[in-house]
Amino acid sequence: MKINKIAILGDPIKHTLSPKMHNYWLKELGISGRYEAIKTPIKNFEKTIKKLCNKDYKGVNLTIPLKEEALKYLNKKDKVVNFVGATNVLIFSKQNIIEGKNTDVYGFKKSLIKLIKNKKRKTAIIIGGGGAARAVLCALIEMGYKKINIFNRTKKNAEKIKKDFIRNFSSNLKIKIVCENLKNLEENLEKSDLLVNTTPLGMKNFPALDINIEKLKTDSFVFDLVYNPLETKLIKNSKERGIKNTNGLDMLMYQAQRSFYYWLNKKPKITNKLKKILEKEIK
Ligand code: NAP
Repeated sequence: MKINKIAILGDPIKHTLSPKMHNYWLKELGISGRYEAIKTPIKNFEKTIKKLCNKDYKGVNLTIPLKEEALKYLNKKDKVVNFVGATNVLIFSKQNIIEGKNTDVYGFKKSLIKLIKNKKRKTAIIIGGGGAARAVLCALIEMGYKKINIFNRTKKNAEKIKKDFIRNFSSNLKIKIVCENLKNLEENLEKSDLLVNTTPLGMKNFPALDINIEKLKTDSFVFDLVYNPLETKLIKNSKERGIKNTNGLDMLMYQAQRSFYYWLNKKPKITNKLKKILEKEIK
């Protein structure tokens, strides 16, 4: 029987939740296969993907520090990968063609729709100016947000995102993108329908995202991409103010679901049972 082989590459890789999710789905769907974690520092990346291609792997997920490095080795990529400047899914074909995808846009969008349902989509704030901020910006525009403020520690990185976006997609989009320094965030909170943290602040072993969200409207939403810990200071403060919120765990599951689909042409189910398993791993 043919075994479908898939892996996640990165360094460090010890704490990844991806094998738990994908092996769970392989079993649930009765697909013969295995998903493993392979520690891959940048210097071994080329050698590793060539080896896995030759061994008939379906593809791989990528995590730190390989999402940007991988762009050099792609034979095929779409507009989203180009704009985000990062790929987290590689699909290998029989002819050793490597296609890069970015499923963070999909993951964020699905999770945000679950959070806000049919609520109005006008103004949003993105905190951060890295790869995740770019993925979030794509998703918010696809979802119809009209004004998006990007607040970043380094303002010029946010401005670069705006410039790249206009160059890659369209210069006549009816969307206003405003870039500001993170220091000016609090005075702008009251105008926003959605606040998204895309920085690692709040993550285990990182300082907290130290902002006062008193001015956020109670009918706005908060999305923290961090999922370890499950409850960051931002999420805790949102709950205290009665603001609907989500951490990054649903996004993680949705991006994995899309990756699985790209490799195996099957859409696995995201269930409470799976979410509980992952939450237990984090705690
Ligand atoms: P990245 O490209 O390195 O960007 C990080 C951003 O955070 C940069 O804009 C950086 O600002 C800012 N930042 C970092 N440390 C900071 C600090 N001490 N104070 C203020 N700003 C700071 O990283 P990324 O790929 O965008 O990922 C960011 C986070 O999103 C990570 O924690 C990652 O785990 C999470 N993520 C979650 C999911 C999910 O599925 N839930 C998916 C993707 C990413 P500067 O521009 O000033 O350097």
